[in-house]
This record gives sequence, structure tokens and C-alpha cells, in this order.
Amino acid sequence: MRTRTRYRFAEWTLSTDADASLRYVGVCLDCGEHSGDTASADKAQTWCLKHAGLTRDTRFEMRASQHFNATMTHVRTKNGR
Ligand SMILES: [Zn+2]
Repeated sequence: MRTRTRYRFAEWTLSTDADASLRYVGVCLDCGEHSGDTASADKAQTWCLKHAGLTRDTRFEMRASQHFNATMTHVRTKNGR
């Protein structure tokens, strides 16, 4: 009886998801509240201004995110093939 062990190594590539746009969230650094997730940076900033008016909180952050897809681009064995 023979036992064979094979190691495989894969290379992966990230590419932006064409169906997903940049997303923005305005975050209040004073109390931790945040806007809803939106594709509009203006809407996230408007939320910050409204929140400042309602609470008198003054420190904010804009967070942006983008979705990526990982694709296996190359598989090689222990021998480099
Ligand atoms: Zn706040």
C-alpha cells in the first residue's frame, strides 16, 4: 500500500466587484452613532451635520468601503507545477 501526499499552493487575485459601488457611513466620534450605509458621500455628511445640530456633538468620521472578489488565478503543486 502506497500513500501519496500532495501539497498545493494557490495564488489569489482581488478585483473590485463591478456590481457594487463605494459605500459611505458617517460616524460620530463623540457618541458612536452612525448614519446608514449609503452610496452617497453627501448623504453621509448630511447625516453628520444633522446629528451635530441635534446633539451638539462635533467630531465625525467618514468611513468608505468597497467590495472585492477573490479569484484563484494559479495552482501549483509542491514541485512548482
Ligand atoms: Zn454623537
